[in-house]
Amino acid sequence: MARPRKAAPAAIRIRMYRIGFGDCFLLTFPGPTRDHHVLVDCGVHPRGNIRTMEAVVDDLLEVTGSHIDIVIATHAHQDHIAGFGSCAARFSRCSAGEVWLPWSEDPSNERASAMRGRRQETVSRLTQHFAALGGSQFGAVEAALQNLAGNDVALRTLRTGFRGARVRYLVKGEDQQDAAGVPGLLVRVLGPGTDEAFLRQMDPPAKQRYLRAAPGGTEVVGGVHPFAKCWIPSSDRGPHLSRRDRKLLSDIASDPTAGLAFTLDQAVNNTSLVTLFEFRGRSLLFPGDAQYGNWRNWIDAPGADALLSQVDFYKVSHHGSVNATPKAALEKMPSASLAAMVSTQSEPWSSIPEGRLMDALARKAGRGIVRSDSLPVNGGPRGPRRGRLPRGFSSGPFWFDYTLPLEA
Ligand SMILES: [Zn+2]
Repeated sequence: MARPRKAAPAAIRIRMYRIGFGDCFLLTFPGPTRDHHVLVDCGVHPRGNIRTMEAVVDDLLEVTGSHIDIVIATHAHQDHIAGFGSCAARFSRCSAGEVWLPWSEDPSNERASAMRGRRQETVSRLTQHFAALGGSQFGAVEAALQNLAGNDVALRTLRTGFRGARVRYLVKGEDQQDAAGVPGLLVRVLGPGTDEAFLRQMDPPAKQRYLRAAPGGTEVVGGVHPFAKCWIPSSDRGPHLSRRDRKLLSDIASDPTAGLAFTLDQAVNNTSLVTLFEFRGRSLLFPGDAQYGNWRNWIDAPGADALLSQVDFYKVSHHGSVNATPKAALEKMPSASLAAMVSTQSEPWSSIPEGRLMDALARKAGRGIVRSDSLPVNGGPRGPRRGRLPRGFSSGPFWFDYTLPLEA
């Protein structure tokens, strides 16, 4: 039997790895006999990859002694799970207590399987459609589609690759006391839900989804139209634009498939497993990439204000994009004790992170906010330079740590 440790470090440590565009967080909770570790995501976008993944996985295996109490994959986007695929051999040397995924990834759930099937079919048709169109103007759309591409190897690692792990597909409300046997750790599962209203946020309605093959390419039936008709040029002539530019503008404006790709992207973000960790009086919120629909499904419910008012640490949702941190939720978090981390960079999407949101977070988080791309990594795009780290934060070669002291 293990002897009680002499002096358990009285702190939770949150390590945010600089992995490129993607999430990889390692949480360490002190226990009476050993430290307990929770890994939240391990992924990178193929167009935002700064090639630190192998070093990151080596580090997290070393820190955890190759045993992770809970492995969480918040949702099946490449930038959250790709590392479980590319580093499958490394993870095969690792054991885990439990692996958690959202219910939408449960292969035995018929509704979830049908939803995934429809999505993958649409993604594959859209990918063909944009490959046929060609042209650099669709870079943002193609990046969204790449993120949505299936990753069977990563999902196989999650489902069968961790020795000894119990794999669970969680639903909003399935709170875990002494989660995976970690003493004193309560994990509240705040999303995703299963009610009809919320399903529409995870599974866009048919009129936004179905494509059919048409002579000369893919045609969208009842798609999302990103531009009003008045912006679509009606002829090739015009006083200010060249013929080529008018053609380009026309292609973008009249192509509803671009909107459809972004709708699908948001739908998968809304499948994010949202977890609130409570441990010895501290509270940490990890919403994955939840966007407004996912948040709305729980922030208006009774008790949500009380939960938000006690958050000590916030993992900023969806890399700091617009529409992923509702103002109402942020306002309810406590200013003085709040620290935040955002794993982000402006490749492949230059609109991320959203400047006004980052300013609001900086004003709100009294204990400081750190963004991953402020850590220089060879070849990686560099975010804004920063001065001294706020108290409680420190850095390593490719990570930032936040140490959250525990109450006695
Ligand atoms: Zn993401």
